[in-house]
Amino acid sequence: MTKVALITGASRGIGRATALLLARQGYAVGVNYLRDAVAARQVVAEIESLGGRALALQADIADEAQVMAMFSALDAGLGTLGALVNNAGILFQQGSIEQLTAERINKVLGTNVTGYFLCCREAVKRMAQRHGGQGGAIVNVSSAASRLGAPGEYVDYAASKGAVDTLTTGLALEVAAQGIRVNGVRPGLIYTEMHASGGEPGRVDRVKESLPMRRGGQPQEVAEIIAWLLSDAASYVTGSFIDAAGGR
Ligand code: NAD
Repeated sequence: MTKVALITGASRGIGRATALLLARQGYAVGVNYLRDAVAARQVVAEIESLGGRALALQADIADEAQVMAMFSALDAGLGTLGALVNNAGILFQQGSIEQLTAERINKVLGTNVTGYFLCCREAVKRMAQRHGGQGGAIVNVSSAASRLGAPGEYVDYAASKGAVDTLTTGLALEVAAQGIRVNGVRPGLIYTEMHASGGEPGRVDRVKESLPMRRGGQPQEVAEIIAWLLSDAASYVTGSFIDAAGGR
């Protein structure tokens, strides 16, 4: 039976690479996007050209009604969910604690924390009801910043990813007996549009030089880990994290 996966923020970056990889592995893929419908449809078209099935699903993951509508559309369009990748996230570069506003903090927590919670909730409802106790698997995309803190740059983002880690650990224990596995991946510097604007000039090169491997990572290198954690090869792995951060 075809496995159905939902990837949030899948129109570009790590989410896009994950959607394409999972489709190549035989999953039917829900491609969530916030605004860029054209890019999301391109991901769907690429999957269809490979002979796969996919559906572009617009939703702001921080909005409860939109998340619920997205999962209903996925049920109707592709079938019962077996895999969720909580990937959509935001980061505002620059900002000491003195520069942070309640608006920015709430925006970051709304997407990176509330959004992950809402999608986990809807996924667990469905996975718990799957026939034959098949359960399902969830991967939460955290960040190396969850443990390093990102001082002077984006402590709000780092704190949101700390919450993602704690959500992952707690939910893994809560749903383990229902056959649902929940794991996390912690990327370091990955070359995506997340770093394309906002930071101080030369920041990416400076970070790169500080890394043990002296290079940033590609989205595909994170997607491979996500796909493994979702797969049956990881059937005895839950509540775990894999760093993809060049040794950082
Ligand atoms: P990206 O900016 O290219 O992709 C993020 C995607 O999330 C975008 O398509 C964006 O539209 C979407 N998104 C943002 N808010 C949303 C919302 N409310 N609802 C639905 N979609 C929303 O960045 P990326 O690097 O591919 O990031 C993917 C994940 O990896 C994020 O969770 C990010 O925090 C994490 N991460 C990235 C890096 C890195 O260096 N790139 C490092 C550590 C962690």
